[in-house]
Amino acid sequence: MKTLIRGAVVVTCDEDHAVLLSGDLLMDGDRIAYVGDHYDGAYDVFVDGTGRLVMPGFVNAHTHSPMTLFRSLADDVDLQIFLNERVWPREVRLSGEEAYAGSILSGIEMLKSGVTTYADMYFFEEDLARAAIDVGLRAIITPAILETPQWTEILGSWETRTQTIVDFCRRWQGREGRIHTGFGPHAPYTLPLEALAEIAVEARRSGFPVHIHLLETKQERENFIADHGRQLIMALEDADFFDGPVVAAHSVWADGSDIETYAQHSVGVAHCPQSNAKLGAGIAPIALMLARQVQVGLGTDGAATNNNLDLWEELRLAPLLAKVSALDPKPLPARQAIMMATRMGARAIHLRDVGSLQVGFKADVLMLRAESSTMTPIFEASSYIDHVVYAGGRELVDRVWVNGNLVVQGGEVLTVDEEAARVSAQRAAIAVSHRLES
Ligand SMILES: [Zn+2]
Repeated sequence: MKTLIRGAVVVTCDEDHAVLLSGDLLMDGDRIAYVGDHYDGAYDVFVDGTGRLVMPGFVNAHTHSPMTLFRSLADDVDLQIFLNERVWPREVRLSGEEAYAGSILSGIEMLKSGVTTYADMYFFEEDLARAAIDVGLRAIITPAILETPQWTEILGSWETRTQTIVDFCRRWQGREGRIHTGFGPHAPYTLPLEALAEIAVEARRSGFPVHIHLLETKQERENFIADHGRQLIMALEDADFFDGPVVAAHSVWADGSDIETYAQHSVGVAHCPQSNAKLGAGIAPIALMLARQVQVGLGTDGAATNNNLDLWEELRLAPLLAKVSALDPKPLPARQAIMMATRMGARAIHLRDVGSLQVGFKADVLMLRAESSTMTPIFEASSYIDHVVYAGGRELVDRVWVNGNLVVQGGEVLTVDEEAARVSAQRAAIAVSHRLES
């Protein structure tokens, strides 16, 4: 099916940051087939783009979708209390159906804020993939691997878990043209170094990326040095961990030498400024990473450390924090920030044909209400980019297409019943809390 959007402001997020003030965009099946001044060919569906802005859908480079069930259950505590006392006791009591309910709720929230792709690290991978398919999003599902006494009882050893994931990736990769897969070793503090090395070997052998939390807190950096007598990133490099595609979430405490290692390998970074701020973890050195051409995307992280999945907030906060930490307004200008939410974000999670309105790219398109108060005034084409980054918000979202399918219209999700999903998630969250008390 061919869908033509006519006469919209087109923010392409291509290499030249091109903006068309009145352009046509054609989606043919799951791909973008035309972007330019005027399309003359045939089409099946016509969308009037007058007063609208189209841009690539946002990429949420790091989240844990079922964690909407734990929203506000672990506020104002540090990471180890968050994990050991609040989150893990609940997660080990969760069922697949409950994880699905939380994941659907996340999907609704992401779609309504213009996210079209997300990188998900969690358990119950089959339920996660099902949720992504049902809600209509593109997802990279990276099943979590941990070795702690509680988790090993449930998931088996990391070796068994890794083989389960090899099988999962083979069965789910490419489903509906929207499911991508990978491996999710949780962190260097929940897995031994030899496990991380072996998981990376298996991921390379199967051709899938590795998605991991790295250097989220200062304590993590210091503990690794105390335990191993060397720097974490250097140890991982020596173990060939970075020889295949890696997504490193956070990297708040990466220093110049770590960033150099990232740059020399294909390590993408998922920058989660709100989660890092809420946990008091710090501000990741994003400007340094970008200066070294490291691909950096934006992530919400899970809803328990954010506490919403509205990527507009990351899009605004990332440049603000880069400026305040440098005491300089110049780092991370709007045109660079918007790329982190789109094309560069897709590259950070190793998707090459996502995140830009260019012919041949996946038809993941966000349509905003351009004639609104926060998008006014317009002085020149770049004003649109400035407003999206510094003044925009989810209230501007009108329509969303994922893989060429219309999934949001008039700001409402078309794929699932939002109220029924909300009730299911509420029920699931309460059921898990009761199980914890009994
Ligand atoms: Zn995370």
